[in-house]
Amino acid sequence: MAKFLLTAVDARTEKVVPLLYDNMDSSLTDLQGRSVVRTVDVSLRAPTVDAPVTSRETPLGKTSPRILKISLGLSCNYACEYCSQRFVARNVETSPDDISRFLESLDTWVLNPPDAVEFWGGEPLVYIKTLRPLAQALREKFPAARFSVITNGSLLNREINQWLDDLGFTVSISHDGPGQHVRGPDPLDDPQSRAAILELYRTLAPKGRFSFNAMLNRENQSRAAIQAFFVDLTGDPDVLIGEGGFVDAYDAGGISQSLRPEEFHSFRRQAFHDIRHGKAGRISSVRDRVMSFVNSLRFERPASSLGQKCGMDRLDSIAVDLKGNVLTCQNVSAAALAPNGESHRIGHTSHLGEVVLKTATHWSHRAECPGCPMLQICKGACMFLQGPLWEASCENAYSDALPIFAAGIEFLAGLVPVHIEGELREDRKDIFGFSEKSAATQGPNPQPARKPFPVPVVSG
Ligand code: SF4
Ligand code: SF4
Repeated sequence: MAKFLLTAVDARTEKVVPLLYDNMDSSLTDLQGRSVVRTVDVSLRAPTVDAPVTSRETPLGKTSPRILKISLGLSCNYACEYCSQRFVARNVETSPDDISRFLESLDTWVLNPPDAVEFWGGEPLVYIKTLRPLAQALREKFPAARFSVITNGSLLNREINQWLDDLGFTVSISHDGPGQHVRGPDPLDDPQSRAAILELYRTLAPKGRFSFNAMLNRENQSRAAIQAFFVDLTGDPDVLIGEGGFVDAYDAGGISQSLRPEEFHSFRRQAFHDIRHGKAGRISSVRDRVMSFVNSLRFERPASSLGQKCGMDRLDSIAVDLKGNVLTCQNVSAAALAPNGESHRIGHTSHLGEVVLKTATHWSHRAECPGCPMLQICKGACMFLQGPLWEASCENAYSDALPIFAAGIEFLAGLVPVHIEGELREDRKDIFGFSEKSAATQGPNPQPARKPFPVPVVSG
């Protein structure tokens, strides 16, 4: 159990209020233990289910998939700066010839129609000669499944757009908005791909099947600027922006795009300001994570029900290549090793019962996560990272989660937490950079602060 004493500020009266937060049972109370959240009555809650817990020593397997992720290969026509796949060892490339064997084998391991089929690259449209017959055959086999693809958009054209629409694809374009130049080439600079991207937007967005997926990094910190970029690009104030979290550090490029300690507070103030003023309301990682955290408090969600953030520790989420290799996730190859030395090829579809996910570490097996106040929002960062890359990703994730945490508590209780006291690293306690005014130093009956706490604001 990890309990934390929060110093919170009433944004209207500037009164300082202490709160107790427990990341294991998601309770938020005053010092007398009375909930400050209107929780949902226990009789109205669905029973919670413990999440699967995997580690190298106690690896889990896979079952017939509900989410089927098909890796076409890791080739890409771009070479982006912090791509999670940049230094992943390449497998032997798959080809259209692999499709028939893959399709023939499906009935032996996909025992029920999956809810969703995701087609992954590299850049998936580099593999269009494979993607077309594969997706068409799967659409006939699984007519109700959601199909999705994430592309850099550079290879779209009118004819591919029509095909994607006809097959019912949801399409996401990876683009960092005003920070795209940091990531890599910009398909919007090319008149043909720009026209194709916008045409696809006009076709699929009204059907709820299009998003621009953007990531934050130290040179692209403002969600407000990202949202404004895509509203301006599309002319649509309701444009959907997928992802929107801070990058994980998969390699040196990811580390160089991670926040420096001197940037933590300014980033958190900026992010909180953007959320609080509705400037990030179209960004899914903000909306989804604020609502998920709010619901964790309303339903007092136990930490035991938390899987990893990407869901690839679930038994019924599976990533495969066309040769039938089962992979840790869609961002790796059968030829690559995980940082813990285990192969990312965790088995083969012909022997699904023998698959073992030895590459991943559930948050409950990390030294840091069970005692982290951001656990309910972060859910442990990337499950296969280790060492300095995991540590850098954890730092990014902590700063990324804090504004969500503050916004969720303000939404429910009208109080903005500004300081966290408890068994956590000293440099993680001060949320926005106002620590010297912490009520945690005032004992159990804190007085209103002599100088009011500044509720975090930034200009702009
Ligand atoms: S911020 Fe770091 S310690 Fe906290 S839950 Fe995420 S990965 Fe774990
Ligand atoms: S394990 Fe999850 S978070 Fe890590 S790279 Fe794969 S999908 Fe992304």
